[in-house]
Amino acid sequence: MQIPLIDLKAQYGRIHDEIDAAMRETMETTTFIGGPQVDAFEAEFARYLGVPHALGVSSGTSGLHLALLVAGIAAGDEVVLPAHTFIATSEVVGRLGARIRFCEIDEATFTLDPAALEKAITPRTRAVIPVHLYGHPADFDPIAEIAARRGLRVIEDAAQAHGARYRGNRCGALASLAAFSFYPGKNLGAYGDAGGVIATDATELERMRSLSNHGRLDKHRHREEGFNYRLDGLQAAVLRVKLRHLDEWNAQRRRAARWYAERLAAVPGVVLPATASWAEHVYHLFVVRVPDRDRVFARLHEHGIGAGIHYPVPLHLQPAYADLGHRQGDFPVTERVASEIISLPIYPEITEEQVDRVCATLRESLVR
Ligand SMILES: *Cc1c(COP(=O)(O)O)cnc(C)c1O
Repeated sequence: MQIPLIDLKAQYGRIHDEIDAAMRETMETTTFIGGPQVDAFEAEFARYLGVPHALGVSSGTSGLHLALLVAGIAAGDEVVLPAHTFIATSEVVGRLGARIRFCEIDEATFTLDPAALEKAITPRTRAVIPVHLYGHPADFDPIAEIAARRGLRVIEDAAQAHGARYRGNRCGALASLAAFSFYPGKNLGAYGDAGGVIATDATELERMRSLSNHGRLDKHRHREEGFNYRLDGLQAAVLRVKLRHLDEWNAQRRRAARWYAERLAAVPGVVLPATASWAEHVYHLFVVRVPDRDRVFARLHEHGIGAGIHYPVPLHLQPAYADLGHRQGDFPVTERVASEIISLPIYPEITEEQVDRVCATLRESLVR
């Protein structure tokens, strides 16, 4: 019996009637670009988050790119972001000609360490991107306090945190700008690439809407050069169906996390993921730390457990960032975490028996 890291087939099996009807309607009305599905999804997602408006875009990466653009980030500026995240968080900064300033993470939550943020800021720093990694919110209030005091914009990377809450408020509704990914494997995932971006300021949102559609003012007039970063109608149709299930799916992910915690709490060497007192975790990933990680990872795969590693190579040590001149040892917490983490299978449909098997296999993998 194989247990995959995520199981999108199991999910489709439960919702195919709703999905097929929504896609059929989009095809019959041929509303492939823009149209009622996109408008409705934007309104429903904004309502879900409790924000005035949301914009559907082509991916989480394009959403981050638009957010940084409207924040005015350009060549010569610096942007602080965690060294422990996916490269989409940083590549948009670099591609705007701005300088990336990597920052250390908090060892318990795997998210940006506010104390390290304060030290990373220079007179050229213009923005900070906290990442709500694995579905656990970053410690937003101290980050926002530092940002306000030092005159920085805050842009949330909420790509892994659909539905997560920080002190009762949804991730993506905390800062004045935020980006979501709807990559298929995310907690709210499309059937292809898709993303969303939030701006509390209506002018910034409308500028992003225009930029995402070739800088259009209307059909034939372009206010500025833009991009084709639009969300398509079929993806919006899928996302509307899946948004209705998101809270239930997140609750099922939390139930699976409890099953893991019950079985692994007393296993020597295994460090379970923490949940801060102010956080509601949505377990996009269930990440444990183990000794001798690479051997344990190989053993799990030999026994059919589709574990993952998110992410084994910290950004500051990536070949893409060799020119920033970082060395091993620059971010010790990030590096230690990167060498010890394993993502165990988690998805709403995972069964207690499957969790049992993952845990039994993990225990055996640790002793040998
Ligand atoms: C998935 C992800 C992104 C990028 O989203 P895409 O939709 O794949 O472009 C950005 N940041 C983080 C933390 C992610 O996990």
